[in-house]
Amino acid sequence: MKYDVIIVGAGPGGIFSAYELIRLNPELKVGVFESGHELKKRKCPIDGNKIKSCISCSSCSIMSGFGGAGAFSDGKYNITNDFGGTLYEYIGKKEALDLMHYVDELNLKYGGQGTKLYSTAGTRFKKLCLQNDLHLLDASVRHLGTDINYIVLENLYNELKDKVDFYFDTPVKMIVKHDDSYEIQCEKTSYFCEQCIVSAGRSGSKWMEKVCHHLGIETKSNRVDLGVRVELPAEIFSHLTDELYESKIVYRTEKYGDLVRTFCMNPKGAVVSENTNGIITVNGHSYEDPARQTSNTNFALLVAKHFSEPFKDSNGYGESIAKLSNMLGGGVIVQRFGDLIRGRRSTPVRMKDSFMVPTLNATPGDLSLVLPKRILDGIIEMIYALDKVAPGTANDDTLLYGVEVKFYNMEVAVNENLETCHRGLYVIGDGSGITHSLSHASASGIHVARKIIEK
Ligand SMILES: Cc1cc2nc3c(=O)[nH]c(=O)nc-3n(C[C@H](O)[C@H](O)[C@H](O)COP(=O)(O)OP(=O)(O)OC[C@H]3O[C@@H](n4cnc5c(N)ncnc54)[C@H](O)[C@@H]3O)c2cc1C
Repeated sequence: MKYDVIIVGAGPGGIFSAYELIRLNPELKVGVFESGHELKKRKCPIDGNKIKSCISCSSCSIMSGFGGAGAFSDGKYNITNDFGGTLYEYIGKKEALDLMHYVDELNLKYGGQGTKLYSTAGTRFKKLCLQNDLHLLDASVRHLGTDINYIVLENLYNELKDKVDFYFDTPVKMIVKHDDSYEIQCEKTSYFCEQCIVSAGRSGSKWMEKVCHHLGIETKSNRVDLGVRVELPAEIFSHLTDELYESKIVYRTEKYGDLVRTFCMNPKGAVVSENTNGIITVNGHSYEDPARQTSNTNFALLVAKHFSEPFKDSNGYGESIAKLSNMLGGGVIVQRFGDLIRGRRSTPVRMKDSFMVPTLNATPGDLSLVLPKRILDGIIEMIYALDKVAPGTANDDTLLYGVEVKFYNMEVAVNENLETCHRGLYVIGDGSGITHSLSHASASGIHVARKIIEK
C-alpha cells in the first residue's frame, strides 16, 4: 500500500497535520497509524469500584488512541511562547503564535464555540505575585474542558474519516528508509510513503529513541520535571482562577536557587492517575460543564532537573523516582501538607479526619520517602510563597499527590521545517522533544503540513 504521506500517531500533532494536508490538497493519499483505539473505544477500566487502580492495559486509553494524550485532558490550549515548548526557536515567535491562533480557530469551528479565552494581559495579579517573589508568566488560554475537548475531537474525526485512511490498534514497529520512499513496518504488513510525519508523543518516546538510533538521527536529553500535584478547596485559588483560569507562576527557591513552577491548574477539577510505559504517575483535569465539576482545585508544583555530563538518562531518573512511589504506595501516594512538614506519614485515619475530600483514591503515605530532599524542600518553600498570594495554600489539610513527573522526550535534531537529516521524514509534537503541550503540538502539525504542500 503506497501513500503520499503517512502520519504515525493520532494525537493533536498527527490530527492537525492530517487536517491541514487534506484541506490544502484533497487529492493527497494520507494514512494515519495509531497504536491506540479509535475515540469511542477509548475507555480507562478504572471505575472506582471493581477496578480502583491502573491494571496496565496493553494500550493505555488515557495516553493512546485518536486524540492522543490530550483526549481526556482539560483541553487547555495555551497560546504563548513562554511555556509549552520551544517551537518558536525553530519557526520564529510570530509564526508559532499565528499557528496557535489558527488552531484555536479550528477548535472553535469544530465544537469549541462559546468556550472562554482567558488572558493575563493587564491583570493585577502580576504585581501581587512580584511583590511576593513570584513570577506570573504571560499567556492566553482557551479552556475547552474535558467534555468539549472530546466533542471537538469527535467532530474532527468525522471530518477526516472519509478523507484519510485511519489504522487504529496498529503500532508502527519501525521506519525503514529506501532510496525514494519510507517503509512503515507494522506487525503484519508494510506500508510505503514519500513523506512521513512522526508524531508519537510521550507514550511513543521509547519507540522514537529506537527509530532515531536506527536511522542515525541525532538526539539529546537532559531534563526531567519532578514534583507533586496539589489539591485544595477551590475557594483558595478562586480569585486567580476566576480571572485567569490557569496561572503559571514561577518561584526561585532561597535554599538552592532552583525554579519551582505551577503547572496544569484545574479549577474545580479532579486528580487522576496516568500510566506512562507502565509507571503510574499523577495528573489532573476538569470539566467545562458545572454539573461535573468538583469543589477542589488542583495543580502541579514541579522542579526542573537538568543533568550535566556524564549522566544522560534524565527520564530514567524520573522513572526511578516514580517507581519508588509505585513500590511504596502501589500507585499514587497522597499526603496531607501538615503531615509532611511534621515528618509523619498520612494514614487512612488522618485522611478521614481531614476537612479535604480527595478526588483521587490514592494511598496515604509519606512523600519524603520518595522525593529527593532538594526537590521536596523546593516544593515546601513554594507552598509557603503561594500562601502569600492565595492564603490557605499552606493549610495542614492541603493534599499533595506524588509523584507528578513531566518526562521530556529527547530532543530530535530537526531543521526549521521540522524535517530530520533524512529528506521527507519529519518529527513533530511532544515526540520531537520540541513541544510539551496541546497548542504547540497542534501548531507543529499545521506547520509541517504546510511545508509538505509547499514542496
Ligand atoms: C491527563 C493529561 C492532561 C493533559 N492536559 C493538558 C492540557 O490541559 N493542556 C496542554 O497543553 N497539554 C496537556 N497535556 C499534554 C498534551 O496532551 C500533550 O502535550 C499533547 O497531547 C501532545 O500531542 P502529540 O500529538 O505530540 O502527542 P500525543 O498526544 O501523545 O499523541 C501521540 C500518539 O501517537 C501514538 N503512538 C505512539 N507511538 C506509536 C507507534 N509506534 N505507532 C503508532 N502510534 C503510536 C500514541 O498512541 C498517541 O496516541 C495533558 C496530558 C495528559 C496525559
